[in-house]
Amino acid sequence: MTAPSASTPLAESLAAVRQRLADALSVAGRPTTGARLLAVSKTKPAARIREAWHLGQREFGENYAQEALAKQVELADLDDIVWHFIGPLQSNKTREVAEHFAWVHSVDREKIARRLNDQRPEGLPPLDVCLQVNISAEASKSGASLTELPALAEAVLAMPRLRLRGLMAIPAPGEDIHAQREPFTRLREALEALQGRFPEAPLDTLSMGMTHDLEAAVLEGATLVRVGTAIFGERTARE
Ligand SMILES: *Cc1c(COP(=O)(O)O)cnc(C)c1O
Repeated sequence: MTAPSASTPLAESLAAVRQRLADALSVAGRPTTGARLLAVSKTKPAARIREAWHLGQREFGENYAQEALAKQVELADLDDIVWHFIGPLQSNKTREVAEHFAWVHSVDREKIARRLNDQRPEGLPPLDVCLQVNISAEASKSGASLTELPALAEAVLAMPRLRLRGLMAIPAPGEDIHAQREPFTRLREALEALQGRFPEAPLDTLSMGMTHDLEAAVLEGATLVRVGTAIFGERTARE
């Protein structure tokens, strides 16, 4: 018997997050399948990911290409695992990401998109991508601005090895659920505008909501919440 027992700390925290997500969907009047959970495993060892996999989790988010590739090697036997790249993406890392991930949430400029498109191996399906939006317009944060979005979306839609699935954002922290909802409303409206403009595009994803604001995100239509701390515990500073 290799599966961990149901009473491990990870089993309990994962069950608690699943319950939060189910409750949030219920409060929002949305179907239980309306949003799925991406387990953000950055800085956490492969053994924790394997344990979460045994508990039924299949989608994992990583921020650092080098670190993720090492874990993917260790977990190569888990053939239905789905890897999402969610971190800032530099030009010199696009090849690793194009070759070793199913999704990228952090595409924020055409140059990065073009490299991912050119480097996506022919033997793999198109790379699912979300455009990252700097929804709180913070000078220090990555992400395209709302005004840049239509042109960037149009460019990505013309790239055959990418499949434009939606939008992602990391808003500035809000004090309460009302403040948290406001940037998520804007992201939802931005997705709706793109859906209206590009009706043929497979734009079905709103990647928003983390440990501290997943309820607000689900109320505003998140289809995928990215949760790290509440599942795996606090992260120690990355060395
Ligand atoms: C780290 C990270 C998360 C998870 O954040 P938590 O607060 O630990 O849930 C989600 N999205 C992105 C892009 C991240 O970098």
